[in-house]
Amino acid sequence: MQHTLKSPITFDGTGLHSGKPVRMVLRPAAAGHGIWFKRTDIHLGDVMIPAIYDAVERTQLCTRLVNGAGVSVSTVEHVMAALAGCGVHNALIEIDGPEVPIMDGSSVTFVRGIVSRGVRQQASPVLAYKVLKPVTVAREGASATLLPSDRMEIEFTIDFEDAAIGRQAKRLDMANGTFARELCDSRTFCRRADVEMMRDNGLALGGTLDNAVVVDGHNVLTPGGLRHSDEAVRHKMLDALGDLYLAGGPLLGRYVGDRSGHSLTNTLVRTLFETPDAVRPILCPPEIAARLPGQGLVWNEIPHVA
Ligand SMILES: [Zn+2]
Repeated sequence: MQHTLKSPITFDGTGLHSGKPVRMVLRPAAAGHGIWFKRTDIHLGDVMIPAIYDAVERTQLCTRLVNGAGVSVSTVEHVMAALAGCGVHNALIEIDGPEVPIMDGSSVTFVRGIVSRGVRQQASPVLAYKVLKPVTVAREGASATLLPSDRMEIEFTIDFEDAAIGRQAKRLDMANGTFARELCDSRTFCRRADVEMMRDNGLALGGTLDNAVVVDGHNVLTPGGLRHSDEAVRHKMLDALGDLYLAGGPLLGRYVGDRSGHSLTNTLVRTLFETPDAVRPILCPPEIAARLPGQGLVWNEIPHVA
C-alpha cells in the first residue's frame, strides 16, 4: 500500500550553493498526491513544483526542478532518495528558499527524521513503473542503463583520477531496508580543485568539510575521513535512487550506471518513458510491494552519525 508521513518533520540547514539558511518541512499528503515541493518564500503565482522527471532542468552539479512559471528548487536528490528509501509515496515538501538544505551531504538526517516520526499506511496500492525492455544512454565515456527486473536494483561503477577514490564498483538490491542500512549515510564528494573552481563561479558557497568529502590525490581532507572505504560509489548509488524516484513512483528495474551523473540519469528516465513499450505502470500486488525500497527497514540498522 501507499505510505505518507505520520506528522510534519522540519529540517533546518544551509543551501550548498547559496550558503543561505533554509528551512524544509516534510508534510503528510493524501494517497495519489505523489511528491511535490512548495516554495513558501514566494507569495505570487504558482509555487508548486512537481517531483517528476520532465520538470528537471539539465544541470551537471545537482538535480533542479522547475515548474511552468519558472519557480525552481535545487539539490532535491538527497531528500528524494530518503523518501524512496523509506517508502514514502506521498508528501508535500515546503521550503523557504531555492535549495534543499545540504545537511551533512548525505541522506541520513532525512532518513532518521522520517523513520523516527514514522510513516502511515494509506488505502491505495502503490503505483510502480515496471521496466519492460532495456534502455541505455551514453555520453562522453559515461553510460546509464535500465534493465527489466521484478525488484529495484542499483549497480554503479566510478573511476576517478584521485587515488583516494580510484575505481569503485558496487551492486545492491534495494529491498529489505538496504538503502537505509548501506547507502543513506554516504556523503557527496568532490575534488579540491573542483571546490576552488566552483567557488570562483559563485557556487558551493555553503560547502564545508562538514557536508562533503573533499579529496586531493591520495588524501581525504575531511576530518574523520571516510564513513565507508567505498563511500564515493555508495553516494552515487544514493543519488541514482533519488533521481530515479522522479519517475513518479518506485521503478521495478535494474539501473546500471558507469560514471554517470544526475543529468545522464535524467536523460535515461526521459528515454525510458519516450521509448514505446519500455515501461508500464502497475498497481503492486503484495509480493512485489514487499520488495520495494522502504519495506523491511529496521531502526537499529540505520547508521548513527555525529
Ligand atoms: Zn549527491
